Amino acid sequence: MLLSYIPYALEFIHPFAVFGNTRLRTPSIMVKIESEGYTGYGEACLPPYLGETVGDTIAFLKRATKVLNTATPEMGLELLLLMLKPYMSADYAGMAAVEMALNDLFARFEGKSFRAWKGFNTGISRDTAHTIGIGDLEQLPGKIKEAEEFSTLKIKLGTKRDREIIEFIRQHTQKPLYVDVNQGWKNKEEALELMIWLHSQNVVLVEQPMPIGMKDEMIWLTERSPIPTIADESVRRMHELRALNGSYAGINIKLMKSTGLGEALRMIEYAKNKGLKVMLGCMAESSCATTAMAQLMEFADFIDLDAPLLYKNDPFTGLTYKHGKIVLNDLPGLGVAPKPGLFENSLI
Ligand code: MG
Repeated sequence: MLLSYIPYALEFIHPFAVFGNTRLRTPSIMVKIESEGYTGYGEACLPPYLGETVGDTIAFLKRATKVLNTATPEMGLELLLLMLKPYMSADYAGMAAVEMALNDLFARFEGKSFRAWKGFNTGISRDTAHTIGIGDLEQLPGKIKEAEEFSTLKIKLGTKRDREIIEFIRQHTQKPLYVDVNQGWKNKEEALELMIWLHSQNVVLVEQPMPIGMKDEMIWLTERSPIPTIADESVRRMHELRALNGSYAGINIKLMKSTGLGEALRMIEYAKNKGLKVMLGCMAESSCATTAMAQLMEFADFIDLDAPLLYKNDPFTGLTYKHGKIVLNDLPGLGVAPKPGLFENSLI
């Protein structure tokens, strides 16, 4: 039987996404792929600063629809993905959505959870870090209290107030911290000095301390830093990972950068072989794509998958959070389900 591909796609605006210390409207496009009475779901999350627009993504989904409408499930997942590849340009998130939905669908064909289908550990739950926005320092104690059940907090630095912020946080909690600098430091000596101090403050990793272009400086910094440096903006896919060349001690893998679970897994394998730390992260995905990424939790050194907690109106169910841990269900496929009525208004 033919794959009935994406008869519905939906733009879902996430009104609460926080990037750095600003809030941006972040659309997600939800897709579903139906075949033989089964349905697979996927999500493309499109933070505006990444440059993938709703229009581009819909255009890619239309191209992908043409390809998959001539395909059959018997071709298998790998071949279907190969067929789609030439139709993708910069549609990383769009491809991630389709790849996610196909993985969901194929695992459902087998009646198994994605993890059981892949032979992964099925009974795993893991702590996730929880991001707290800095904003006004006066509001921080309240935010720290709200995040009480999480064992690790993540904060964004990269301004002149970095030391002040950490010192303030340390008056209220001694929990380990993930720090994301979002390319904010421009001087390697100052960065190193700060990292040595952050190490003494129980900061356990620093994400993307310097701009993408400052690779030599990052090699210098990573060699000397007492804290692992984690590449985020510097590494989206395999080819960038292969080119890291000692500039980072680890990588933050996100489905919206990697184009899906398959490449995320290849990146994990490569990173482990090279002795690099693996962090699993997300943009502002709902429970749909976040649950997909959480399938790979057992392979991660660091987990930062808290985006659904920022939603007041999450369009999907899937993973749950209990006492600061991510808990996955054992339903077939990725274990995700849309809220009723979600796919009623199709964009294409
Ligand atoms: Mg980051």
